[in-house]
Amino acid sequence: MPPILLAVDKTYPKGLMWFRRDLRVDDNAALYHALRSCRQVVCVFVFDSTILDPLPRVDRRVEFIRESLLELDEELRALGGGLIVRHAAAAEEIPALARALEVQAVFANRDDEPEALARDAGVFGALANAGVSFHTHKDSTIFERDELMTKTGQPYTVFTPYKRAWLAKVDDFFLKSYPSRGHADALAPPPEGWRAPVPSLEALGFAKSNLGTLEIPTGTRGAAILFEDFFERIDRYEAARNYPAVRGPSYLGVHLRFGTVSIRQVAGVARQLSLQGDAGAATWLSELIWRDFYFQILAHFPHVHEKGESKSFRPEYDRIQWHHGKHADQLFEAWCQGRTGYPLVDAAMLQINQSGYMHNRLRMVVASFLCKDLGLDWRRGEAYFALHLNDFELASNNGGWQWASSSGCDAQPYFRIFNPVTQSERFDPDGKFIRRYLPQLAGLSNGAIHAPWTATPVELEAAGVKLGENYPVPVVDHAEARERTLQRYAVARSKTLAKK
Ligand code: FAD
Repeated sequence: MPPILLAVDKTYPKGLMWFRRDLRVDDNAALYHALRSCRQVVCVFVFDSTILDPLPRVDRRVEFIRESLLELDEELRALGGGLIVRHAAAAEEIPALARALEVQAVFANRDDEPEALARDAGVFGALANAGVSFHTHKDSTIFERDELMTKTGQPYTVFTPYKRAWLAKVDDFFLKSYPSRGHADALAPPPEGWRAPVPSLEALGFAKSNLGTLEIPTGTRGAAILFEDFFERIDRYEAARNYPAVRGPSYLGVHLRFGTVSIRQVAGVARQLSLQGDAGAATWLSELIWRDFYFQILAHFPHVHEKGESKSFRPEYDRIQWHHGKHADQLFEAWCQGRTGYPLVDAAMLQINQSGYMHNRLRMVVASFLCKDLGLDWRRGEAYFALHLNDFELASNNGGWQWASSSGCDAQPYFRIFNPVTQSERFDPDGKFIRRYLPQLAGLSNGAIHAPWTATPVELEAAGVKLGENYPVPVVDHAEARERTLQRYAVARSKTLAKK
């Protein structure tokens, strides 16, 4: 909820602000409410071992969070507070901390991912047993849960009407910033015995990633740099956003994921510009609305990801028999490592492997390629993205994969199968993006670089390309794969028709 003045100020002598995916002071809903309703607020972040333990020991996101916490801690200290940083199972640590610090209330921003909801339900129970209240607030979306429903009270499952309703409902009230800083006098430093520097990566059990060399700016300062840069070119977003070689998108995904930027702030700016007729800003706002859309899909249709397992939004698509076995595993490996023989797909996979980022157009291309060219279960790709994307967001990732595999709510029709060569010719016409990631193909002409196997032997030799040696031959033939996919999807299709 946007700011509401509490009828009785300072309900609690002492409260605990639990930072999670909201690593900022400014415009932070839970922090604002904590500061407004407690005489003293102690702040904590928990590196949740339940989440961290299963991860590989090098993870850019852990480093991004840690870097951002250094800034948050510094900022809180400058305001008279500071951050307690723990490394433990959050579900147990928060109630233990609440008891040890003798707080009467814990404040956090809502996280509607199924595992987070289950954790929070446990925390709520443990705190209640100790007589401590637990307040959660909306912070990471503009509209959440049941806030935007159809006229008949049903959740939206199609994006266009959802977007229309979103735009009709949004106003300054929903975009207003929470003036947390104005109430910072309630911030209390960590009590004696709880003061400690933010743990090192090594102490957390992780090794350094290449985050620093990638120049991905962290923290709220990093988000501000990216947003300022994007603000200068937002009017060109519509024209530029589909070309991976062009600096078209905002690159704010990881900041929206960890809350080092406020969704209200960026959506507010985009809306203002859009109302003034800026078409680029209008398209960008639309992308932010897709984000809200997928969040509410996950909230209303939790079967899409339950108990760590993803299921098709449309159950009939779970009847599809995906390619499996040794050959399928080899194809999956080729896809993961960027060795499919389709340059745009391979360059995209090298982009995610090397940087943790992948351009949106390429996410669609490689996702389509995985399920509709290689015939592999989309959940394998979804899991790979979940592990590697810096901006991994369960709702958007699941939505994106279900869109590409046609199993989702407002998905690509099953018969629409991206051709990886024509996508490449269209969106990377000069092969600039391909050349960046596949320098061994750099000598090919703009005509041949999208499909090296079509080049003449003379051209291949002149460019130094040896198919099967320094670049793979295609692992599948697109036209044949297309036919197989249409047959594979017939199961889901016949079920759909039978239902009607
Ligand atoms: P911009 O183009 O600048 O967009 C701004 C913001 O809008 C993004 O940061 C994101 O928060 C939101 N957004 C943009 N497009 C979408 C979309 N289609 N759906 C939902 N939100 C969107 N986005 C994620 O944030 N996390 C994911 O794990 C994720 N996985 C994806 C998987 C697949 C298969 C596909 C097709 C898309 C996925 N997306 C995901 C959506 C989109 O690709 C990324 O949000 C975008 O590329 C991030 O780059 P950016 O911040 O520069 O985007």
